[in-house]
Amino acid sequence: MPGGRVAVIGGSITGCAFALAAVRGGADEVTVYERTTGELADRGVGIALQVDRYAELVDAGYIDDSTPWRIVTNRKWFLDDGTSPRGRVVWDQPHAFRVYNWGQLWQGLRRRVPAEVEYRGGTPVTVDDAGRVCLPDGTREHYDVVIGADGYGSAVREAVFPSAVPQFSGYVMWRGSCVWEHEPIDHLISICLPNAQGVMYRIPGSVGDRMSWGLYTAITGTGDPRPDLLAQTRKYYPPFWADLVTGTPERDTLIQPINDLVVDAYTSGRTVLAGDAATIARPHVASGAVKALQDAVAFEAACRAAGPGGSWDDVLARYQAERHPAGAALVRVARSMGYAMVEHTPDWAAMTPDLMERWWAAQNPDDGFGGHAIGASISAR
Ligand SMILES: Cc1cc2nc3c(=O)[nH]c(=O)nc-3n(C[C@H](O)[C@H](O)[C@H](O)COP(=O)(O)OP(=O)(O)OC[C@H]3O[C@@H](n4cnc5c(N)ncnc54)[C@H](O)[C@@H]3O)c2cc1C
Repeated sequence: MPGGRVAVIGGSITGCAFALAAVRGGADEVTVYERTTGELADRGVGIALQVDRYAELVDAGYIDDSTPWRIVTNRKWFLDDGTSPRGRVVWDQPHAFRVYNWGQLWQGLRRRVPAEVEYRGGTPVTVDDAGRVCLPDGTREHYDVVIGADGYGSAVREAVFPSAVPQFSGYVMWRGSCVWEHEPIDHLISICLPNAQGVMYRIPGSVGDRMSWGLYTAITGTGDPRPDLLAQTRKYYPPFWADLVTGTPERDTLIQPINDLVVDAYTSGRTVLAGDAATIARPHVASGAVKALQDAVAFEAACRAAGPGGSWDDVLARYQAERHPAGAALVRVARSMGYAMVEHTPDWAAMTPDLMERWWAAQNPDDGFGGHAIGASISAR
């Protein structure tokens, strides 16, 4: 890397990983600007890492076994046919993931941020036309490179690509988590619903385990959407799973719009986009954290490839070439999964394991589910 000063906007999963990448890549000075103060909230909702992608990230030195996790070995697709409290299993699909509590995953990454990095919490910033970082007190700081790791509503993206606006898919995801006091379940639960989908998996909590759940569904009517969540769950979920969702206190639930976003480029001048700021893929593809960490691994690899005395233009060109197509590919898979799993669901009662297998293959043609493998040029570092 050419050395110099690097600013990272956003101190969540992507921001922490990029701070690590920039230091390892040879930056002289790295500052993280995070708008929230203190610890990012532990909302106790789950986030997943496909096991092969996890292994690549361990090799790259971005994660290890010290963060609490639970294993998911298969995914059972349940349909409520009135025969049993958990429903009938339509398909038992191999499905190898490690699942995390988001807050614990973030804390593990935060601990990896090297001590020499200045992490400035409580500092919302923007970027001006000249690529300078604008601080809340009105001062403007020049950096050699500014990394936009500020999530799906990215102010950095808005400054450099104002026309890149997230496209609403037409549906939302309700998310929540509740205490899980039953057997140590190691499968992901998919609930087969008409033009909607439920997912659930067990994650570590701060005390005992929790069941993290999500419901993808269109919002009908106006006003408070929560009665919709409760009504839909009671009507279509097998009763055992319905009780978990409807019994989750409102304070432990949140609603997230489901969007798609592909940007024209991952770099503009000396500004770099990363993680959700760069690409928004629907969560069906289960790769938000993997993609964020892979972006950081690729940035570090680009710095190393440019070598001491190399130019920033070279670093950014390498990063763009590796990650921009990867982000677009992920958005394509995620869209086709949303189409099949929410927008145009099959007649679940008529589905057999063979049909399910073909249905799944059609929406995941390039095996992008869980994230594509990191580029060979990068993994061979
Ligand atoms: C508190 C929190 C909890 C989450 N929980 C889950 C979860 O349970 N499951 C899941 O799948 N995904 C969750 N996500 C989203 C998940 O982290 C991302 O989809 C993915 O990991 C990529 O992360 P990111 O760092 O690119 O974006 P984000 O995680 O969205 O982080 C963006 C960061 O930038 C900061 N920021 C934004 N604007 C500015 C600004 N102008 N100046 C300074 N800082 C700014 C935000 O405060 C935030 O910390 C959560 C995100 C947050 C912030």
